[in-house]
Amino acid sequence: MKIFVVNAGSSSLKYQLIDMENEQVLAKGLCERIGVTGAISHKAADGREYKAETPMPTHSEAFEAVVYALTKSDAKVIDSLDEVSAIGHRAVQGGSEFANSCLITPEVIAAIEEWSVLAPLHNPANILGIEACIKTFGDKIPQVAVFDTSFHQTMPPKAYMYSLPYKYYEKYKIRKYGFHGTSHRFVGNRAIELLGKENSKVITCHLGNGCSITAIKDGACVDTSMGLTPLDGFIMGTRTGTLDPSTITYIADKENLSFAEIDRICNKESGMFGISGVSNDNRDIGNAAANGNERAQLAIDMQRYQILKFIGSYVAAMNGVDAIVFTGGIGENDAELRKYVCENLAYLGVTIDDEKNAVRGKEVKISTDDSKVNVYIIPTNEELAIARDTLEIISK
Ligand code: ADP
Repeated sequence: MKIFVVNAGSSSLKYQLIDMENEQVLAKGLCERIGVTGAISHKAADGREYKAETPMPTHSEAFEAVVYALTKSDAKVIDSLDEVSAIGHRAVQGGSEFANSCLITPEVIAAIEEWSVLAPLHNPANILGIEACIKTFGDKIPQVAVFDTSFHQTMPPKAYMYSLPYKYYEKYKIRKYGFHGTSHRFVGNRAIELLGKENSKVITCHLGNGCSITAIKDGACVDTSMGLTPLDGFIMGTRTGTLDPSTITYIADKENLSFAEIDRICNKESGMFGISGVSNDNRDIGNAAANGNERAQLAIDMQRYQILKFIGSYVAAMNGVDAIVFTGGIGENDAELRKYVCENLAYLGVTIDDEKNAVRGKEVKISTDDSKVNVYIIPTNEELAIARDTLEIISK
C-alpha cells in the first residue's frame, strides 16, 4: 500500500510517496514559489531526478506537476494515481479540538479553518493543500490530517495555562498548545521502545531551525516548551523563545513599532541570527565563533545554556528522567552541544561515551552503559509518522 504525504506551506509544498509494505520512501520532492512563478524538484529512491520550472499560480497546479513527476516523468515511480491508497497531511494548529489524527471531512476542514486565527500562516496553507488534493486526486481517496499540536493535548491545565486573566482563555482560547508534536511522539515512542518500559520519563529535544523540548511521562506529553505559537520556548534560528513581555512594550514604545513589526522582529530577526548577526544556521555560527566572533560565541553559549535549563526544569516537572533524546538538524549533528548538555547533567548520573557521541544523524545510544540516564540520538521522521497514522486510520 502506498501513501502520499503532504506538507503544504503558503508558497511551498513538500511531499513523499511511501510504500507501507517496507516503509520505504519511493520518491520525494518539493514545489516552491507557488503563487509567484513555480518550480518542482523531484527525486526517486533510485536517484533519478526530475526538475522543472512550470507556472504554479495555485497549489492545484503544483499538485498537477507532482502527479506528472510521479507518474510520467523520467523519475516516475508509479503508473497511475490509482496506486496511491491514501493521503496524509501535516496540519499545524488543531487547538484543543484534535487530540488525535483524523480522517478529513468537510467538518474537519471547517475546524482547521476556525483554528486559523491562532496559526494564520500555517492553517490556511494546510487547507489549500487539502483542497488542491481533492481537486487533483478526486474525492474518493481518503485523506488524513496529522496535527503538530495533537500529541501535546495530554498536558494538564497547570502546564498549559498562562497566568493572564482567565477571561482571555475563555474568550480567545489563549493557552499553551505546543508544536512539533509529530516529531516528539515519533522519537519519544522510539525511546520508550529502546528503554523497554512503558512507565518512563523521557525528555525529547527537537533542535532544528525551530526548537522545542517536551516532557513525556508514561508515553504522554506533560509539558512542552512551545506555547500558543511556535515562538515560545528558548532561542531558535530566528525566533526569540521566552522573553519578559515588558521588553516588547518597551521597545515598541521607544521605536514606535506596530504589532506586525514586533511580530516580524521576534519571529524573523531574533534568536541565533539576532544575537550573532552572522546567520540563523548553527554551522555558520559555529565557524564564525571558531574564528573569534564573540557574538557568535555568545549565541552558542545562550543556546546550550537555555537547552540545559529546559531539560533541568522537565526533570523537576517529572521528578526524574529515564531517557533524553536529541533530534532535528542540530540535535542529530551537533556533538559539542550534546556534550555540553550531558556534562552539565552529571549530577543526575548522566555520562556519555565521546566516541559514540561523535556519530551524526544515526540512531545511537550515546550514554555509557553505567549512565543512570539513557541518552539517545534518534533521527526524526515526521513524514513516516504521518504515513503510519494515515495507514492506521484508513485501516479502521
Ligand atoms: P528545520 O527546522 O528547518 O527542519 P533542521 O532540522 O534541518 O531544520 O535543522 C537545521 C539546523 O541544523 C541548522 O541550524 C543547521 O546548521 C543544523 N545542522 C545541520 N547539520 C549540522 C551539523 N553537521 N552540525 C551542526 N549543526 C547542523
